[in-house]
Amino acid sequence: MRKKSKCCTFARNKLLKEVLPVDFIENMRSELGSEADALFQVLEQEPQTSIRLNDKCDVVSFDVDSDEVPWNEDGYYLNGRPSFTLDPLFHAGCYYVQEASSMFLQQVLEQYLDTDSVVLDLCAAPGGKSTLISQYLGSDGLLISNEVVRQRVFVLSENVLKWGNGNVVVTHNQPVDFGEGCKNLFDCILVDAPCSGEGMFRKDKDARSEWSSKQVTVCAERQRKILMDVWNALKPGGLLIYSTCTFNRQENEENVEWVRDCLGADVLSVDYDSYWGITEGNPGYHFYPHKTRGEGLYICALRKYESFFTPYKIKLQKRVVPGDASVEREVKKWLLHPEEWAIKQSDRFLSAYPMRYKELVENLSTFLTCLSSGFGIGEWRGKHISPQHSLSMSKALRRDVFSSLSLSLEQSLSYLRTEALMPVENLPSGPVLVCYDDVPIGFVKNVGNRLNNLYPNEWRIRKL
Ligand code: SAM
Repeated sequence: MRKKSKCCTFARNKLLKEVLPVDFIENMRSELGSEADALFQVLEQEPQTSIRLNDKCDVVSFDVDSDEVPWNEDGYYLNGRPSFTLDPLFHAGCYYVQEASSMFLQQVLEQYLDTDSVVLDLCAAPGGKSTLISQYLGSDGLLISNEVVRQRVFVLSENVLKWGNGNVVVTHNQPVDFGEGCKNLFDCILVDAPCSGEGMFRKDKDARSEWSSKQVTVCAERQRKILMDVWNALKPGGLLIYSTCTFNRQENEENVEWVRDCLGADVLSVDYDSYWGITEGNPGYHFYPHKTRGEGLYICALRKYESFFTPYKIKLQKRVVPGDASVEREVKKWLLHPEEWAIKQSDRFLSAYPMRYKELVENLSTFLTCLSSGFGIGEWRGKHISPQHSLSMSKALRRDVFSSLSLSLEQSLSYLRTEALMPVENLPSGPVLVCYDDVPIGFVKNVGNRLNNLYPNEWRIRKL
């Protein structure tokens, strides 16, 4: 008996993953009319793979389609889905595998946000939109990239560090911690909200079996709570970008109307080309996969009402003990434009973060749970400071101060599995930057008879 019921449950779950939920079909028919059939059809096809290039690299290892993602000049569609794990450039953060619709965020930023802004990405893991924002802000701005779910915050930190901008503080806090602790701080907040995931129905078949009308209501309520909890952290006149990967009005338009009417904001229109296939919501913008080449997305930009306000105040202030100046000078030699970086020294680790946001970063770290501020630059090993892996990923790395060693594809994969590398003749002792296709993938330490692998164990390739 037990066996039979297990088998029936398995068959039922399999079926649920394969068929679209009936209520979803009804909702979409009433939303899209006869067009809904085209959507249902496309949800049964293979998802489109796309990547967004990092401006730190000018190489990719595989063919990109002749079609670029039209709304983002760094975005490319791929022919099929290569094995990214086998590409050292993927591990070096040369590109991010991101579905194309999400890259539309670039358009909103370009149209409404100055690069010298302080931005909060509230629901940030695994980091697709955070890497886009950090590249957009460059050396002018600062991004606080937050994730509430503990298991997901590590992958966020990894992706942000591999991207290499150094202008990101990764935090693990609740939305209310920002609303209460950072009043009027942010020029822009992105709420890429957890949602019922209708737009992921072809990419992630589990999303179909997890969906229900009740779940849509639960998600919509949770999204309002998130928005309400974080609202005070946005400056009057600041930009709220709200997005989901679902289609229904309840989680999208109705929540945006609620922000507009109850929290107080103007909805902004975003320019786009008509051939991109975007569908205007009321308000906001929908990406339906039968009309745009990508997965489902809803996005809307709002401007919080201007009002008289006092600039942000941080709850707590701890005095930051200045570090050893000679140590700071030593590690700053490893950086391009050393004057742009502040160095934080703790017992074992040294990190670099933007000098122009020094005070703010130090203050935030007194009451937020910060996983990383900027990037790890060095680590004490005995009496010496050894460069940290995230320095090799950083756009601020001064390559000419390190000896470097070029690795083949096979050697690179072996390095990324944290295996020992064979000694190389005439290589100076000490830290050596290892590169694949002239792109840094990490450090080794030459100790004469062997090369110690300094690749972070937690990021290693576990299986090929
Ligand atoms: N922005 C991400 C990106 O581009 O890679 C994707 C974010 S995903 C759509 C939503 C995120 O919200 C998830 O990482 C999830 O863990 C997080 N989340 C779940 N519940 C939350 C809550 N109550 N408050 C804030 N974030 C939450």
